[in-house]
Amino acid sequence: MTQRMWHNKEIKDRYDVVIIGGGAHGLATAYYLAVNHGITNVAVLEQKFIGYGGSGRNTAILRSNYRTEEGIKFYDQALKLYEDLAQDLDFNLMFSQMGHFTLAHSTASMQAQTTRAAYNQACGVDSYVLEPKEIKEMLPEIDITDHPRYPIHGALYHPPGGIIRHDAVVWAYARACDRAGIHIHQLTKMEDIIMTDGKVTGVVTNRGKINCGMLVSCVAGWSSGICEQVGVKLALVTHPLQALVTTAYKPWLHHVVVSSTLHIYLSQTDRGELVCGNGIDHYPHYGMRSTLSFLEGYAAHVLELFPILHNVSVQRAWAGLCDMTPDYSPIISLIDEVQNFIVNCGWGTWGFKASPASGWNTAEMVATGRTPALIEPFRHDRYIKNRLVGEKAAASVGN
Ligand SMILES: Cc1cc2nc3c(=O)[nH]c(=O)nc-3n(C[C@H](O)[C@H](O)[C@H](O)COP(=O)(O)OP(=O)(O)OC[C@H]3O[C@@H](n4cnc5c(N)ncnc54)[C@H](O)[C@@H]3O)c2cc1C
Repeated sequence: MTQRMWHNKEIKDRYDVVIIGGGAHGLATAYYLAVNHGITNVAVLEQKFIGYGGSGRNTAILRSNYRTEEGIKFYDQALKLYEDLAQDLDFNLMFSQMGHFTLAHSTASMQAQTTRAAYNQACGVDSYVLEPKEIKEMLPEIDITDHPRYPIHGALYHPPGGIIRHDAVVWAYARACDRAGIHIHQLTKMEDIIMTDGKVTGVVTNRGKINCGMLVSCVAGWSSGICEQVGVKLALVTHPLQALVTTAYKPWLHHVVVSSTLHIYLSQTDRGELVCGNGIDHYPHYGMRSTLSFLEGYAAHVLELFPILHNVSVQRAWAGLCDMTPDYSPIISLIDEVQNFIVNCGWGTWGFKASPASGWNTAEMVATGRTPALIEPFRHDRYIKNRLVGEKAAASVGN
C-alpha cells in the first residue's frame, strides 16, 4: 500500500511552536527543531498547500558565490547542507552541481566579478573569473563575438553551483517533519495574531484558535501583512518575479548561465526543458500571473546570447512573490517590540538556496532564544543601526 507523504491531523489547542508558511523555510525550521533540538510539539500552518509559494515556483538555482563575507558564509552553509540533504531526508532531490556562470558585459562588471571571486576565495568558496574564449569552450553555443549589443567580456564561474528539484525539497522536508511528529495543517490560514501583555500567545485561523509558546513567520512575499498585525513595519516590498519553461530539447546546456546586464538566466533540466527567468517586475504588487511583456523581453535578450534558441517553444510561464529588502539580504530576527515572535523573510528572488541554513539557524534561535552568530548580520534592526549587508551585486537576477 502506498504511504502518504504526510498526514492530516487534528489541530491541537496548543503547540510549543507555530510556524506560519508551508514553504521550504517554514518546513526546514520545523525539521531542524525536531532533529537538532528535540522540539516536536510544532505545527506548520499553510493557507493553501505545501509549496504553494515561492518554494514551488522558483527556478531552483543553488550557489554560494555571494558578495559579502556575511552572505558568502551563510549561503555556503546552506549549499553544504544541500549536498547531504538527499541522504538526510532519504529522498532523491536531483541536485546537479553543474557549475554557474555570471556573465560580465563591461569592464566595470569584470572588475565587480573579479572582486567577488576574491571575496569568495577568501571565504573558501570555489569561484573564479574566465576569459571569453574559456567560456566558449564550456558553452559552445554562446555568442562571444562583438555583434550583440552587450558583448561578453568574461564571467565569474562557480563550479559547485547548480540546480535541484525544488518541489522534491519541499515534499521531502514535509515528509520528514511528519515522521518526526510535527503537524502540517494545509488549508489553514492564519488570520490574526493574539497578543497578551506584549507577547504573542496564539493565532486565530480559519479553522479556529491555536495557542502557542512561540510564533515564527516564514511567509516570504506575504510577510508585510502578517507583521502589520503586530504593529511591526518591515523594511521590504513585495514584487512578482516571472519565469518560464520551454518544451524539451536534446541536452545541450550543461551549466547555469546568468546575465545581470541582459536580465536573464537559464538552465536545462534532466528532462531537457530550458528553465528561464529574469528580474522582478518593476511595480510592487501581489499578482501571480505571467505577462506577454515578460515573454517578449526574455526572448529578445536570450537570443542575443544564444541565437540557436530562435525556434524554441514556451510550454508554461508563471510568477511568484518576492519579498525584496533594501540591501538584498534576508531578515531572520527576533523582534524587540514583540516577544515570542520571530520573522524569517526578505528572501527576494534568491531565497530557495538558503532554506536549509535558514531553517537550521531559525530553529536554533527558537530553541535557545539567542541569535546564532552566522545570522546575527540579518537582524531586522540593521536598518535602524545602518548596518546593511549589501548583496545587490550578487543577488537580484542571479537568483
Ligand atoms: C519565479 C521565481 C524564481 C526563483 N528562482 C530562485 C532560484 O533559482 N534560486 C533561489 O534560491 N531562489 C529563487 N526564488 C526565490 C525563492 O523561491 C524564495 O525566496 C523562497 O522559495 C521563499 O521560501 P519561503 O519558504 O520563505 O516562502 P514561500 O515558499 O513563499 O512560502 C510561504 C508560504 O506561506 C503561506 N502563507 C502566506 N500567508 C499565510 C497565512 N496567513 N497563513 C498561512 N500560510 C500563509 C503561503 O501560502 C506560502 O506557501 C525564485 C522565486 C520566484 C518567484
